[in-house]
Amino acid sequence: MDTKELVEKGLELPLMEAFYTIQGEGRFTGYPAYFIRLGGCDVGCVWCDVKESWDSGKWPVFSIEQLVEDALAFPGRLAVITGGEPLMYDLGPLTALLKANGFTTNIETSGAHPFSGDFDWVCFSPKKFKKPHTSIYKEADELKVVVFHQSDFAFAEEHAALVNSSCELRLQPEWSKADKFTPIIIDFAKNRPKWKISLQTHKFMDIP
Ligand code: SF4
Repeated sequence: MDTKELVEKGLELPLMEAFYTIQGEGRFTGYPAYFIRLGGCDVGCVWCDVKESWDSGKWPVFSIEQLVEDALAFPGRLAVITGGEPLMYDLGPLTALLKANGFTTNIETSGAHPFSGDFDWVCFSPKKFKKPHTSIYKEADELKVVVFHQSDFAFAEEHAALVNSSCELRLQPEWSKADKFTPIIIDFAKNRPKWKISLQTHKFMDIP
């Protein structure tokens, strides 16, 4: 098989970066975690802080065995697959190998592509710039909506109506708009307590 076929089967994947850090956002805030940031995204968020991830062709392709071997070099056993948009790829083989090696698997996704993989926690962060694929709604354990504009509150409620009733709901101020929207999010959550607040605590800690 050539590289294109191996990537299509999820046996090799383009990697932008992988690093061991502390999860800064969402349900697992504060947990040591190994991040695998895959290259490639076709969602096009105007405020994206990893625009260099968009072009998958820019990034080297690694076998899933290599990705897992690199993850095993660190003591934590929580792996977070992110991007880019990781669901552009079949994540079944990578997550199976991570789990076989004792990892808990999390994903951070916009849900813009069909769901794949065996994940212990699915953080679904829909974006207005590309409609989510319907397969994500029953998989989401956490709905995390980034607030960049006032209209994002209605967008958040629209998606909250589509996920499972057990799905945890979080609003997170977009970093550059945090001064403006954090107080508004606080009021929103106090009035609608099904919503919780997520902050990008890694940015306060100055870690990746
Ligand atoms: S989905 Fe994520 S990686 Fe893709 S453009 Fe939006 S913020 Fe950036």
